[in-house]
Amino acid sequence: MTSIPQVRSLVTAIPGPRSQEILKRKSEAVSAALGMAIPIIVERAGGGILVDVDGNSIIDMGSGIAVVSVGNSADRVVANVKAQVEAFTHTCFMVAPYLGYIEVCEALNRLTPGTHKKKSILLNSGAEALENAVKIARSYTKRQAIVVFEHGYHGRTNLTMSMTAKNMPYKDSFGPFAPEVYRMPMAYPYRWNGGAEKCAEEALDLVIHKMEKEIGAKNIAGIVIEPIQGEGGFIVPPKGFLPGLSKFASENGILFIADEVQTGFARTGQMFASEDEGIVPDLIATAKGIAGGLPLAGVTGRAEIMDAIHSGGLGGTYGGSPVACAAALGAIATIEEDNLCARTLEIGAIISEALNAMKAKYSIIGEVRGRGAMQAIEFIIPGSIEPNPGVLPAIVKFAQNEGVLILTAGTYGNVIRLLPPLVMPEHLLREALDVLDRAIASAI
Ligand SMILES: *Cc1c(COP(=O)(O)O)cnc(C)c1O
Repeated sequence: MTSIPQVRSLVTAIPGPRSQEILKRKSEAVSAALGMAIPIIVERAGGGILVDVDGNSIIDMGSGIAVVSVGNSADRVVANVKAQVEAFTHTCFMVAPYLGYIEVCEALNRLTPGTHKKKSILLNSGAEALENAVKIARSYTKRQAIVVFEHGYHGRTNLTMSMTAKNMPYKDSFGPFAPEVYRMPMAYPYRWNGGAEKCAEEALDLVIHKMEKEIGAKNIAGIVIEPIQGEGGFIVPPKGFLPGLSKFASENGILFIADEVQTGFARTGQMFASEDEGIVPDLIATAKGIAGGLPLAGVTGRAEIMDAIHSGGLGGTYGGSPVACAAALGAIATIEEDNLCARTLEIGAIISEALNAMKAKYSIIGEVRGRGAMQAIEFIIPGSIEPNPGVLPAIVKFAQNEGVLILTAGTYGNVIRLLPPLVMPEHLLREALDVLDRAIASAI
C-alpha cells in the first residue's frame, strides 16, 4: 500500500479514455441492474487513494462502503492472505476445521460489547449475518416476530430485503416479502414532529406502544437496529433511545440485535458503535470492515443463545473462508496495534469541523451528523426541512471531476455520506473536504 503515492492527481478527464473503453465492455457484459458511484476502472488502491487505468489518483471517501477501513491491500492483510493461499484455500469449516476461523471468533467474542461468555459463527456477507441472527433469535426464543425500523438497511436477500425500509431501489418489483417483519418509526431527531429534544422519549413511547399493542411483546423474537443507520442517511438515534429499546427487550425476553455491519470495527471511533451508550446486544451482526476487503461476516452472541441451535442448523460452504479469516486477523491486528479507534476520533473531529463550517455557509445544508469517520450532510430546500435530492448529482460530479469519490445515501436521496479509510492521511482528508466545500458552493 505504501507504494501508492498519497497524492490526488488527475491526468485525464473523469472518465479517461482507457476507463471509457472498459466501461463500454462493462455495459455489454454486466447486468444493467448494478449501479456505479464513479465512472472509472480501478487499477490499484491503497491508503486514501484509488488509481484508475488512466493513471488518475482519486481520493477515496467511501472505502468501498466502509469496508477497507484499514486501507486497501493493508500490509498485514496482504501478508496473512499470501501465507494462507499458499497453505490451503478451502476445506469448508464444517468438513475439516482450521485455526483461522476459531481465532476470528475469539477476536469477535473479545472485542464485541459485554464481558459475558460469547460465541460466534462466520458467514460471507452482511445480509447473511442478519439472516442468521434472525434464525438464531427465532430458534432460541421460539417466537417469530422481528422488529425493524424506518430508514433501516439490512441487505438484499429476501428476508433482509423485507427488513430493509426503502423501496427504490432495494425492493421494488422483488416481492413477495418475508412475513413476520414489523417496521417501527425511527427516532430521527432532525425530522421528529415533536422536535429533536422530545424525540428520544416520544419515539421510545411510540415504538413500545406499537410493539405491545400491534405485535404483542411475547411474540417478538428480536429487535434489529443499526446503532447509526447507514444507507438510511447516517441517522443517529438520540441518546436514550437505544438503551430504552435494549431495556424493553431484556424485560420481555426479546433479543436485542445490533446490526453493526456498517458501524463496526472502529468506524465510529469505538470498536463498535453500541459502546457509545453502553449497549450490550444479545446478538451482534458484523461484516464490511471486518476483513480489509475480503468477504466475511459474523454473528456474535451470548453463548447460551448461540449454543441453543441444533447441531448442523447453521453454516454454509464458504462461510469463514480461511483466506477471509486470515485477512480479518490482519485487519483486526491493524485496528488494534495501530490504534485506529483513536485515529478515527481525530479524523472525525476534522470532518465535523469542516462540515459544520459548510453548514454555517450554505442554507441548503439542513443537518450535519454522524460519529468518527462516519459523517453525513443532509440537504434541504432552504428555509424548510424539505429534502433536496436535486443538488446531489452536481455536487458528486464536481467532486469526481476534481478527483474525489463521495457517496450518497438517505431515504430521500438527499444525503452525502463520508466514509474515508481510517488510515487516510490528513492532507488528503483536508483536500477532499475542501473539494466538497467548493462542490456545494458550485451547486447553489
Ligand atoms: C451493507 C449492510 C448490510 C448488508 O451487507 P452485505 O454484505 O452487502 O450483504 C447489512 N446491514 C447494514 C447496516 C449494512 O450497511
